[in-house]
Amino acid sequence: MSDRIPGFSTLAIHAGAQPDPSTGARVTPIYQTTSFVFDDVDHAASLFGLQAFGNIYTRITNPTTAVLEERVAALEGGTAALATASGHSAQLLTFHAMMTPGDNIVAGNKLYGGSINQLNHSFKSFGWEVQWADATDPASFDALINDKTRAIFIESLANPGGVVTDIAAISEIARKHNIPLVVDNTMATPYLCRPIEHGADIVLHSLTKFMGGHGNSMGGVLVDGGTYDWSSTENYPMLSKPRPEYSGMVLHETFGNFAFAIACRVLGLRDLGPAISPMNSFMLLTGIETLPLRMQRHCDNAQKVAEFLESHDKVAWVSYAGLPNDPNHARQQKYMPKGGGAVFTFGVKGGYEAGVAVVTNCQILSHLANIGDTRSLIIHPASTTHKQLTEEQRAAAGATSDVVRLSIGLEDAEDIIADLDQALAAIDG
Ligand code: PLP
Repeated sequence: MSDRIPGFSTLAIHAGAQPDPSTGARVTPIYQTTSFVFDDVDHAASLFGLQAFGNIYTRITNPTTAVLEERVAALEGGTAALATASGHSAQLLTFHAMMTPGDNIVAGNKLYGGSINQLNHSFKSFGWEVQWADATDPASFDALINDKTRAIFIESLANPGGVVTDIAAISEIARKHNIPLVVDNTMATPYLCRPIEHGADIVLHSLTKFMGGHGNSMGGVLVDGGTYDWSSTENYPMLSKPRPEYSGMVLHETFGNFAFAIACRVLGLRDLGPAISPMNSFMLLTGIETLPLRMQRHCDNAQKVAEFLESHDKVAWVSYAGLPNDPNHARQQKYMPKGGGAVFTFGVKGGYEAGVAVVTNCQILSHLANIGDTRSLIIHPASTTHKQLTEEQRAAAGATSDVVRLSIGLEDAEDIIADLDQALAAIDG
């Protein structure tokens, strides 16, 4: 074997996978089984005691899912990964390993709406607090950190406003306070941005979106950057204190720079249970094989659509980091120079009715609440996801009545543009 380090496209196809040892199957098989037979009693005991790696039960490990985990870890440049049933459950397991009641997370305020709900409401019922920093102002994170802060949480490319977060500046603040930086990289994917290279300690994904890329399978993943020293403080007892479940084993001492992924698996996933199905791991692996090709096309199409909308007389504004005049453009050039992603918003002149008319009039773009599909998707937040809010609350969430959100797919850009053009033209009628 040569010493050559494989490139990103090679890793997207090969990382973690071998021809199946028992059948020779070239594509990773779907190991659709709940459980695995032990060699003997000693083998079983060593698996249960974490003295050996192997499969016991698909809630904890599965060979199809293991390939997915190794592949995403390789693409992100991490030491290990743990796949879960959804992006939200990857967030749950990540914070479960870091937090005890009364602790807090300092989070950027430009997160996906579902994550804002998760932190504001569900996590609070566990006694985990959240403090909201201005995602566009790194100093605001510094000001909110206190002795109960256990994590900083941001998105690399924030959904849906297209804010490119200054990961390196926020990482410096995290380092200064010795707090791990958790980055949701769903919208950028490692093709556009690898947050660990900019100082992230843990990277999260909803694999449901661009990673899988075909709108057909739910999944999530957490990637351990191997960068944070969990033994440097008393604040993370799950990693640095003896675990009664494993005969007093200290996970960080035993597993070193992939202890975080292990803790999330053998304590979080084992006990809370949001396991991904082997079928979904297979579908997501298949999607990831074409990630570099798809992501570049998503970005190229989005750039063309954003430029078209920017010059359209029925469009008031366009918020897309790939546009040279956009406030996020300089950070996009630094953190994701291959493109500004595929999800962005624009404001349609005529407010609420005009927004409803655009989504209703589209024929190629599908009106639904998802992102990261091969298909182009459109939604009018004020009449759907943000309908229950007041106009002031919508303004704070960046979802005023005129806002339309797009997730640009892989169709011919000219067809997407023609569809939006006729939808805009039909507003008055
Ligand atoms: N993070 C981001 C940026 C998202 O857009 C989403 C879902 O839209 C999630 C996390 C949650 O992922 P899932 O729907 O797979 O639970």
